[in-house]
Amino acid sequence: MSLKYYTHGRRDQMKVALTFDDGPNPPRTDQVMEILDSRGARGTFFVLGKWVERWPQAFQRMVEKGHTIGNHSHLHQAHLGDFDRAEAAIGNLLGRPTRFLRAHYFNFFTCLYSPVAMSRDMKIVDADVNPADFAKSDPAAIIDAALNDPSLAGGSIIDLHDGREFDDDARRLASPLPMIEALPAIVDGLQARGFELVGLDDMELVDPIEWRPDGRGTFATAEVRSAIQGLGGKSN
Ligand SMILES: [Zn+2]
Repeated sequence: MSLKYYTHGRRDQMKVALTFDDGPNPPRTDQVMEILDSRGARGTFFVLGKWVERWPQAFQRMVEKGHTIGNHSHLHQAHLGDFDRAEAAIGNLLGRPTRFLRAHYFNFFTCLYSPVAMSRDMKIVDADVNPADFAKSDPAAIIDAALNDPSLAGGSIIDLHDGREFDDDARRLASPLPMIEALPAIVDGLQARGFELVGLDDMELVDPIEWRPDGRGTFATAEVRSAIQGLGGKSN
C-alpha cells in the first residue's frame, strides 16, 4: 500500500502557489487575504476542521474571496478518521468536496486509512519551499527564506501558516504572526520575478512522490502504528 503526494507543479510555467496552513484564524486570515487581494494574488488555505466549525464566517470569507480550500485534518493530530471528520465540517460549508489535502507535519500515516485522503479526486500536497515561518520571529528572515530558497522556481509550492494551535482566544490573538508582516514583500518579490501567484486548482501538479509506510510515523497513535505494521510494508 502506498500513496502519492506532490511537492510542485509544472516547472515550465511561471506559476507559484502560496499555501497557508492551520487556519482559519480571524482576523489574521483576513489580513492575509487583504494582502493577496490587493496584489491580484490567489492563495490556498489548508484549514483545520475544528477551526472551520469554530469560525464558520471567517471560513466563508475565504471561500467568497475565491481562494482555494484544502483539508489539513480536523484536530491537527494523527488520529484515524481525522481527515474525514474535517472533510465533513469543511464540505458542509463549501458545498462540495475539497480536492487538496496536506498531512499535518507531513505525516502520511493516517492518510492511508482515510477514504477522503485516498479518494481518486484528492491530491495530497507537500511543498518544495518551506520557510518555517512558525519558527521565526523576524519577518526579514521569513522573506529571505521564502525568496532565496534554492528550490524556488516555476511550479513551486510555498508553505506558510496563517493559524496557530491555541484554543485560548486571548493567547491566540496575542501570539505574534510575523508572516503577516513578511507577506507583502514575499508577494511583491515573487511577482517582480515574473511569477503568477495562483491557487493550487490553477496549477498542474506533476512528478508525484510515491510514499510507503516507513519508520517516520512520529505523530501516529499506537493504533495507527500497529495498523500500518499490519500492512506489511517496509518498516525501516
Ligand atoms: Zn499544520
